[in-house]
Amino acid sequence: MSVHVARATIHCAGEIWTPYRNGASVRLSTYKSAAMLVDDHGVISEIGESAEIFKKHPSAKRIDHGSAIIIPGFVDGHLHCPQLDVIGSGGYRLLDWLDQYVFPAEAAFKDADVARRGARRLTRELVRHGITTAAAFSSVHAHAADLLFDSFDRSGLRLVAGKTSMDIGAPKDVLEPVAQDIESQENLIAKWHGRDGRLFYAITPRFALSCSPAMMKALQALREKHGSCYVQTHISENINEVNDVLAVWKGFRDYLAVYEDHGLLGSKTLLAHGIYLTESELTRVAASGTSIVHCPTSNTFLGSGLFNLNRATTAGAKVCLASDIGAGTGLSPWQTMLECYKVQALQGASVSADELLYRATLAGAEALSLDVKTGSLEVGKYADFVVVRPDKNELLGERLAVTKSSSERLFACIAYGDDRIVDSVYVAGKRLNDSVAWNDLA
Ligand SMILES: [Zn+2]
Repeated sequence: MSVHVARATIHCAGEIWTPYRNGASVRLSTYKSAAMLVDDHGVISEIGESAEIFKKHPSAKRIDHGSAIIIPGFVDGHLHCPQLDVIGSGGYRLLDWLDQYVFPAEAAFKDADVARRGARRLTRELVRHGITTAAAFSSVHAHAADLLFDSFDRSGLRLVAGKTSMDIGAPKDVLEPVAQDIESQENLIAKWHGRDGRLFYAITPRFALSCSPAMMKALQALREKHGSCYVQTHISENINEVNDVLAVWKGFRDYLAVYEDHGLLGSKTLLAHGIYLTESELTRVAASGTSIVHCPTSNTFLGSGLFNLNRATTAGAKVCLASDIGAGTGLSPWQTMLECYKVQALQGASVSADELLYRATLAGAEALSLDVKTGSLEVGKYADFVVVRPDKNELLGERLAVTKSSSERLFACIAYGDDRIVDSVYVAGKRLNDSVAWNDLA
């Protein structure tokens, strides 16, 4: 879907908050009574105080968001499309939870109607939560990944996704033989990778226990052939998983080496979880430019463990946040940021509100190598943003009245926030709430 938006100033009487990196530290840029001038291609050409921008561009169309706060669109670096209805399935740790809930839910996507509804419901929910870019696993079925791309294509959202590759270690209705898997991926790459500069394909082995040596070798060859594609998978989420991988993949120095030795690391690779990565593994993750995707609500829900953010970033690894639904307990980035804060607090560390917003926006764009386009509100980037109305949550509105700084107000939003306060969502300057024919996606 091509994007054509009229040149406009989008403004609010509240504030614009956007994270920026200053060397190793992360800060919040704030603009009061702020406006963005967005050009015909949906790119931010000016940002600053509204009175000044209005004066310089008196004829530009004005879109007024009243007393709202504007922040960058959220980036969810890891989620599973077929697992929307698995959220809140309790009682098990990772490997049993997969058997009990996840594999049956993903098997249901064999039915194209189920897969179509699942893709469209996910798309709608992402917009409702202010997530403008997502990295998603589809099921093993090629048609399900195709329908996911189709839904994102029509919505205007940004997407990195792939069909899940797995040929062992699960019921046969969620497995696919190697040759068929690769043929399906070739077709998906040809159809979707790079579409409209918004949709990209990711080679998606579920994890080392789901792939035979033949599958890993085939994925390595696919990656070598399609070097611009992403790779997304899981690593070191659960102690039993780590032990099983080491037992199965004998001859590899550690869990990371299973992916590393198959050429699957790099600046376009996303490794979900990474709780139990060793110092050596973290060093190699960082050196390869690979990103770790921290999924705090998933990790606490499944009792997987406490990811140490400071340890990973000290090693030089890039880290962003994600919901990991359905092990994660919801799509809300506010909830994910708050859980990240709690997980680090339990390990004696304190993450600032500024950094939490960074991890949920710009860090995700950096992990996806999309930070030249999105992730923060800066001149030259697409106008991908969320209009936040804290007063839609009465208690939060009252709470903000007694805050003294933007960072304090942001922290209150993180603690109290949910989908109620997400008022409007824009990608490339286009308001998605208006542009998507949601009835067609129902
Ligand atoms: Zn996952």
